[in-house]
Amino acid sequence: MDGMINDVAKHPSKTVPVAEEQRPLSDLLRLPAGPVDLSTLATDATLGFPGAGKADAAHVDTVLQPELDDLQERLFANGRATPEAAPRVLLVLQGMDTSGKGGVIRHAIGMVDPQGLAITSFKAPTKAELAHPFLWRIDRALPGPGMIGIFDRSHYEDVLVVRVHDLVPEDVWGARYDEINAWEEALVASGTTIVKCFLHVSHDKQKERLAERLADPTKYWKYNPGDVDERLRWPAYTEAYEAALERCSTQHAPWFVVPADRKWYRNWAVAQLLTEHLRGLGLSWPAADFDVEAEQKRVAAS
Ligand code: AMP
Ligand code: MG
Repeated sequence: MDGMINDVAKHPSKTVPVAEEQRPLSDLLRLPAGPVDLSTLATDATLGFPGAGKADAAHVDTVLQPELDDLQERLFANGRATPEAAPRVLLVLQGMDTSGKGGVIRHAIGMVDPQGLAITSFKAPTKAELAHPFLWRIDRALPGPGMIGIFDRSHYEDVLVVRVHDLVPEDVWGARYDEINAWEEALVASGTTIVKCFLHVSHDKQKERLAERLADPTKYWKYNPGDVDERLRWPAYTEAYEAALERCSTQHAPWFVVPADRKWYRNWAVAQLLTEHLRGLGLSWPAADFDVEAEQKRVAAS
């Protein structure tokens, strides 16, 4: 990337085509408008990765980490200084079993100060939660000012597992797409940036990862016999995901489709998407609400 910039500086009259990897990842991975056919979206691509492959991943992450860390700290500082005006960020992670929601939290989200994070894993709702509208428990988990909320699964389960298993009548889940869009629009209008990542893993890669979990006693804890039952419903889940992506990718809260067959790419891509969105907030450090010079004198004299 540096090379390209230098070349342009040396030959200002030349128009250098913008390389794929120079386009924001948010452009490259943003779900295109129109009907969604997941079989046409790559699961093993490495779009936009600023390196040759896996061997460069650790280095690339080392370059990204300080910026992500700095941006998150600015966000957090603004939340402390001016909570009423501070932005909030919500990262939504969705994907089939083994797509790597946990891995992303550990490796990508792990790049920032845990104090500024609010991580929620959504499981099957409790009886008490079911007594409320489906967005009730989601509202309660939203990030506060200056915080980054991470949803490991989300309100989208209410049009995914719920649809696949007929947990509520079709007219009920069918109305939820519009409800979700309206709810997300209001959330964005009140100062939350939503970054929705669909971790797109292939049917074959899922099988490989499930088999790996069974071959390694240190991975048994990740295995759930029910995962195979869900795997058998792959076509129904694919259909449900296609509907959710297509109907709920909006101007205010688009979906990003993250190829998830390569863990190193998937982890980097989510960290990069988060970085780009934080950058877009244009956050400065909060000004002092005290007289800096006077305080310096007081400290010196103390
Ligand atoms: P895991 O993410 O592997 O811990 O599994 C969580 C489980 O909770 C998955 O089987 C989800 O499908 C399920 N789940 C999450 N949200 C809902 C929901 N709204 N309704 C029913 N099941 C859900
Ligand atoms: Mg699981």
